[in-house]
Amino acid sequence: MTTSDTENDLRPVIPRLSKSKFLSGLQCHKRLYLEMRHPELAEPPDLSTQAIFAMGTEIGILAQRRFPGGVLVAPTLRPREAAVALTAKLLQDPDVPAIFEGAFEHEGVIVRVDILERVLGTEEHRSAWRLIEVKSSTRVKEVHLNDLAIQRHVLIGAGLDLAGTCLMHIDTGYFYEGGEVDLEALFALDDVSTVVAERQGKVPEQLEAMKSILRESSPPAIEPDDRCHSPYECPFWAHCTKDKPLRWIYHLPGPKKVVQQLVQEGITSIDEIPEAANLSITQRRVKDNVEWASDDLARVLQSVEYPVHHLDFETVMLAVPKFSRMKPYQSIPVQWSNHIELQSGEIIHHEFLHGEATNVVSVDPSGNPIGLDFDTGEFAGDRMLSTSAEVRVPLTSVLHGSKLGVTVFTDAGTAWDFGSPMDRAEWHQGVGGGVFLIASIVRINLDIAHGLKTGDTKVHLSSGFTF
Ligand code: SF4
Repeated sequence: MTTSDTENDLRPVIPRLSKSKFLSGLQCHKRLYLEMRHPELAEPPDLSTQAIFAMGTEIGILAQRRFPGGVLVAPTLRPREAAVALTAKLLQDPDVPAIFEGAFEHEGVIVRVDILERVLGTEEHRSAWRLIEVKSSTRVKEVHLNDLAIQRHVLIGAGLDLAGTCLMHIDTGYFYEGGEVDLEALFALDDVSTVVAERQGKVPEQLEAMKSILRESSPPAIEPDDRCHSPYECPFWAHCTKDKPLRWIYHLPGPKKVVQQLVQEGITSIDEIPEAANLSITQRRVKDNVEWASDDLARVLQSVEYPVHHLDFETVMLAVPKFSRMKPYQSIPVQWSNHIELQSGEIIHHEFLHGEATNVVSVDPSGNPIGLDFDTGEFAGDRMLSTSAEVRVPLTSVLHGSKLGVTVFTDAGTAWDFGSPMDRAEWHQGVGGGVFLIASIVRINLDIAHGLKTGDTKVHLSSGFTF
C-alpha cells in the first residue's frame, strides 16, 4: 500500500450530491460544506420561506396537469435507487407520455426532474425526451440555467437522449376570469436548450471543485458578504455572523465598494472607521451614530394632529390568481390595522384580516370577528374575508394598575370555496358588546355577539396580550 493510498483512505467519504447541493455550492463552497457536514448549524426556514416553498409545490402540481397521462415517481420513494429504477422502467414504457419527478444518477450526483416529456417522431430522436424545469418565477434567471445545467449533465451522463431543455414559469400576462385556472395561459414555456448546453460545459469542473472542498476536514474560510443573500438566503447566516460585532462593517449602508476597501484594511466594526475615511453623507451619519430626520419629514411629523391614525397593512402576491379579474402576482391587500390615538391617550382599534375559513366559531385573542355565523354550516368555505370595527370605552384609568372598560363592535364577513366566484358568496353580519379588563399586558374579554342572519346569540370569553 502506498502513502498516497493511505491518505486517500483517510479522506472523508463524499456523500452523494443533489442538484440543490450543487446550487448551494455555486453560491458558496462553505454553504455546501456545512449543508453536507453540519446541517444542524442551519436556521430552520421561517414562515415566509415555508410559504414560498408551499407556493412552489402548488405550481409544480399544477404544471403536471398540463401533461395528461404523465406518471409520478413519488418524491418520498426510498431508497433513492428504487426511484432511479422506477424511472428507468417508465422510460422504456412507450405508453408513458411524461414522467414527473423522475430520478437519475451519474457520478455521485442525483437529480429529480420536474417533468420529462416524451418527444416522438423525429428522424434524429426516435424516442427522445424534453427536460422541463418548473419555477414559480416570472422569467428565466441565472440560477435556473445552472439548475438545468446540472440536470442536463446528469441525464446525458445517465444515457438519456435529450431533445430539448425548457423552463416553465408563470406568465404575468394571464388574466384570471374565475372558475378553473387556464393552465395553458398561466404557464409560459421558454426553450433554453442552447444556453444550458453551453453552461453544462462548466459543470464537471464545478463538481470537481465542490468534491475537493468536501474532502477537507474543516469548512473553507469564507467571510459572509453579499453572496449569502443571492440567489437564495443562506440558512447559515446566523452561524457565520455570530461573532461579528454589533456594528459590523457589513451594516454600513451605501456602496459595498467602500465596505470592501475598509475590510481589506482590517476594519471589522463601523466604530473603527478612521475619521479621514472617504464616506458618503449617509455613511458618515451611521458612523457617527446620530439620529437624523430630514427637514421635510420633521416638518410633516410636527404638523400631525389628533386623532393620529397608526395604519399598517399587508399585501400578498399569489402566483396562481385566486380571485376573478386578477393577474399572477398582482398585489392584493389582505390585512390592515388602524390604531387611532386620541388626545386623551385612548386608543381605538379597527382591523381587517383575510384568513382561511373554518367551520368553527371564529374566536381568537387577536380580535378576529366573533359575531358571525361561522358555525351554522351555511357559512363555510376554504377562503374567507372578514372585517370588524370596535369602540372601547375605559371606565377606569390605567394608572390604577389595571383598566376596565366596555366595548361595542360589529363584524361582517363571507366565506367561499377556492374556484367559486367570491362575489356570489353570501355576506353575514354580527353585532355585539362586552367588557374588557387589561392588567399589565394581559387582556381579558367577555363578549356577547349576535348573528343578524341566523339570530343566534353567543357568549364568548377570550384572553390575549396587549403591547
Ligand atoms: S452565510 Fe455566507 S459565508 Fe456563510 S455559508 Fe452561507 S453563504 Fe457562505
